[in-house]
Amino acid sequence: MGLVVQKFGGTSVGDAERIRAVADHVARTRRGGDQVVVVVSAMGKSTDDLLRLADDVSPVRPPRELDMLLTAGERISMALVCMALAGRGVEAASFTGSQAGIITDADHTRAKILEMRPTRIQEALDAGLTPVVAGFQGVSTTRDITTLGRGGSDVTAVALAAALGADVCEIYTDVTGVFSADPRVVARAKRLNKVSFDEMMEMAATGGRVLMLRSVEFARRHGVPLHVRSSFTWEPGTWIVEEEPTMEDAVVSAVTDDTSEAKITVGGVPDHPGVAARLFRELAERGINLDMIVQNTSENGLTDISFTVATTDVDDARTACEAVREELGAAKVTADTGIGRVSIVGAGMKSNPGVTALMFETLSNKGINIEMISTSSIRISCVVRADRVEDAVIALHTAFGLDAVAS
Ligand code: ADP
Ligand code: ASP
Ligand code: MG
Repeated sequence: MGLVVQKFGGTSVGDAERIRAVADHVARTRRGGDQVVVVVSAMGKSTDDLLRLADDVSPVRPPRELDMLLTAGERISMALVCMALAGRGVEAASFTGSQAGIITDADHTRAKILEMRPTRIQEALDAGLTPVVAGFQGVSTTRDITTLGRGGSDVTAVALAAALGADVCEIYTDVTGVFSADPRVVARAKRLNKVSFDEMMEMAATGGRVLMLRSVEFARRHGVPLHVRSSFTWEPGTWIVEEEPTMEDAVVSAVTDDTSEAKITVGGVPDHPGVAARLFRELAERGINLDMIVQNTSENGLTDISFTVATTDVDDARTACEAVREELGAAKVTADTGIGRVSIVGAGMKSNPGVTALMFETLSNKGINIEMISTSSIRISCVVRADRVEDAVIALHTAFGLDAVAS
C-alpha cells in the first residue's frame, strides 16, 4: 500500500459535477489500495472573485484580513469534496491549513512554510480516513491565518507529501501535463513526458504557471516525485524528475511567456559606487522581489537603472524609489506596465552555441524589439512589448523545432 497526495486545482473542483468527478477518482485510488491525502484549491475563479469583492468594499485591505477572506475559498471546496466522498462510501475529513499543521512566517499574502506538523493528518490516515486539506493556507507563528501566495495550493501539496513521506505528489489540473509552451497560447505545443527540476524551476519562474515555483523548489529539496496530470482525462501526464539531459534531448524544451511584470526605471542617476546598493537595499527592506536588472552605460557621469517587478508590487516599488531619489541625486522614476517577457528554457542549451543568436534573429524577423535581456545557464529571457509576447512565443516555438507534427 502506497501513499499518494492528490492536489486538485480550481478548475478541477469548479462546479458540483467536477467535484463529483474528483471524488470518483479519489475513491478509485482508494479501491486500488493506496492511501490518499487530498489537497484542494478554491472553486474555479473564486479567489479572484473574493479579491474583487475586497476591492469593491475598501481601498484599504489589511493583509491579515485579506488572508482571512481568501482562505474561505478553499474551505468551501474541502467540505464539498468530503461530502462527495461520503456519498461514495469513502470516509473523509476536512482540515484547514492550520489544522493540518502548516506553520508559516507572518508575511501575509505570501507566507513561507517554516515547519510542518501534520499530526492530525497522520492520525486520520491511521484511522483509515481520507484527509482533505485546504490548499494555499497556513497559520503563522503569531497564530494568524496566512496564505502562501497565488497558486500556493501546489506548495501545500508538496509540503504534505514531503512531511508524510508520500510516494508521489499528483498535481491534477485542466491540461494534460507540462507542455512545450502554454497550450492556450501555442496551439501546436506538445506535452512533455519528463521535465527536469532545473527546467521546471526556470519555466515556473518565467510564466509557466502550471506549477508554482516554490512547490518545484520544495519538491526538489525534499526529493518528492511530482506528476502533473489532467483531472478531465485522468491520463498519465508529465513527471518532474532529477535528470539530465532532458526528455527528447531537445536544445530548447519550452518557451514561456509572462505579462505579469512591470518595468521601473530610475533615470539620471550619478554613476558612483554605492548608488545601486542603496537603491536595492531600500527595495529589499520593503520586501519587494526584483527580477531583471539593467544598468545602462553612463553618459556624462549619469546612468539609468531599470528593473522588473510583479505588477502587484509596482506601486510599492515606485514609492521605494521615490523615497531615495533625492538622496541618490536621481532625476526621475518611471513605471512601464506595458512590458512582457518571453523566455526559452532547455538544459541542452548549455552545450549548444547559437541558441541566443537564433532567439534574437527570430524576434528581429518578426519586427519585435528587445528591451532587456537576462540569462541563466539554461534560460534566455527577453523583455518585449506586452502586445508582442504572443507573436514572439509562437515564432520561437516554431524556430526551435518544438511544434507538434499535425496528425
Ligand atoms: P490550477 O488551477 O489547476 O492550479 P493553473 O491555472 O494554476 O491551474 O495552471 C494550469 C494552467 O497553466 C493551464 O491551464 C495552462 O494554460 C497554463 N500553462 C502555462 N504554461 C504552461 C505549460 N508550459 N504547460 C502547461 N500549462 C501551462
Ligand atoms: N486559490 C488560490 C489561488 O487562486 C491558490 C491555488 O489555487 O493554488 O491562487
Ligand atoms: Mg495553479
